[in-house]
Amino acid sequence: MKKLKLIASYQFANFLQSTRVSIDVPHIAEKGGDMIKDLLPRFYEAHGMDPTYTTLRSIFIDGHEVAWMRVGGTIQNDYTGRGREGKPYTGHELCCECDFTENVGWKTEGDTVFGLLGPNKCIYRDAAEYLRHLEIRQEYLKKFKDAHGDRYFLQEKIPEIIFDLIRRVKAGEFVEDGGGAASYGGYFYVQTIASILGCAIAEGENFILHDPFTIWQKVRELVEDKKIDLEGAIIQLYRKPKSPAWKELLKIKDAGWTGVASLPAHSKMKCEWKLELWRPDGCPVDTEISGLALIHDPTFGPDTEDVARVEEALRKLIDEAKKCE
Ligand SMILES: [Zn+2]
Repeated sequence: MKKLKLIASYQFANFLQSTRVSIDVPHIAEKGGDMIKDLLPRFYEAHGMDPTYTTLRSIFIDGHEVAWMRVGGTIQNDYTGRGREGKPYTGHELCCECDFTENVGWKTEGDTVFGLLGPNKCIYRDAAEYLRHLEIRQEYLKKFKDAHGDRYFLQEKIPEIIFDLIRRVKAGEFVEDGGGAASYGGYFYVQTIASILGCAIAEGENFILHDPFTIWQKVRELVEDKKIDLEGAIIQLYRKPKSPAWKELLKIKDAGWTGVASLPAHSKMKCEWKLELWRPDGCPVDTEISGLALIHDPTFGPDTEDVARVEEALRKLIDEAKKCE
């Protein structure tokens, strides 16, 4: 039987690009339907045993089982190009009955298994995440309590809380439902901190609370202090900036003179060309050549407009150097 392996682990969300996901959503699995352990045999029969799911914690809401699960399997396609196909992986994922229920989370057509978007519509998962955030909040209130157990007091503990949440994610604890953070090399979204603390993310939302602290302010302070990094709204650990590196793009030779234009090799560098010049005797011209800014982001290769500008600048540079000889 030809099986389409669905890798639902959020760490491998990119893999979903390789699977066909139907947009017709029949319904949420009925509340109080079969438990996940009763649904798994049929799920594995259709999908195969790669990956496998292990329940670490079940949360029942209105009879509907939502579970924090460990997912383990082998990498099918390594889109990072690191050739890890066939290597084992493990991750953690929030699942519910919907994921494993036929015609809600998946369906078969002939020999092919398709993923369905039913689980995305499941309100019980949202409820489970909300309850988990309340639970973590209670733990923090106990840990960081002031005389009144005031929740706004927690906002002063945002740095400690962020590092504690990172520790929890590393330990495989349930912190958020969702996919994005891990595939961006991060731990969780800023929104999750807000949900756990029960407070606003941005100033504009804070007018009712008259609260001087906002999550964003605190997060930005941590970024400025080089304690953490941010990718969009995803919290990452601070990484030392890479040393600058350049890749040569254009070389012009003119009467023995050589001009070279290079692009920044990674995204943490200033978005500008590096221009270098050598005399006919092979000695580098030791003058400060100010960077020519790139108009377009060079991530996907330089734009023709940028190349035309740098070529003109390079020729001008050579002409002027020749005149000075
Ligand atoms: Zn569900």
